[in-house]
Amino acid sequence: MAQQDIDERVSDEFVDDTKDAEEREREHRERGTVRPITVVGHPMLHRECRDVTEFGDELAALVDDMFASQRAAEGVGLAANQIGVDLKVFVYDCPDDDGARHVGVVCNPVLDELPAESRVLDDNNEGCLSVPTAYAELARPDYAVVRGQDAKGNPIAVRGTGYFARCLQHETDHLYGHLYLERLSKRERKKALTMMAEGTPRYETVPNAE
Ligand SMILES: [Zn+2]
Repeated sequence: MAQQDIDERVSDEFVDDTKDAEEREREHRERGTVRPITVVGHPMLHRECRDVTEFGDELAALVDDMFASQRAAEGVGLAANQIGVDLKVFVYDCPDDDGARHVGVVCNPVLDELPAESRVLDDNNEGCLSVPTAYAELARPDYAVVRGQDAKGNPIAVRGTGYFARCLQHETDHLYGHLYLERLSKRERKKALTMMAEGTPRYETVPNAE
């Protein structure tokens, strides 16, 4: 589907998350505190998070911490359970196919089902801050729409292409307790876990209990 067709069809429906992206990201992260990242094996990454029901100061502070943590770990997306918080919220700071920078937050995300005939798979590399230093090729639809709420509780829809579409799918998966590793073949998964075992993350992680 051409970007232009999408723009014309749905321009009003989606948040403009490219507007003031740089300033918004900086404001969040400057207010926030960097927290260590949970890694594969941490129980919170492997179960569905709780729905967000309160959209107040506490949530706003969490979102700030998530932006700070995302930046410190050089991530393009971060789910709350990746900093050990059991709530369905993710943040992102991610470029799309056209190089546009998208910055935002989604609570209680649900992905739209795409009609099979409009699905174009993109098999680029994917990685995850919770599987440090590993990456693998993974085919995913190159277009995604996620619906949920912003940090104030207003309903929102976010759409993405290319790498940003991958990010929206990846982060939503996190909040339902799934890692991209689960979408890999057994062999690819093993390879990724070996990369992780042999690498050293460039950011602080939460050690898993033995
Ligand atoms: Zn991840």
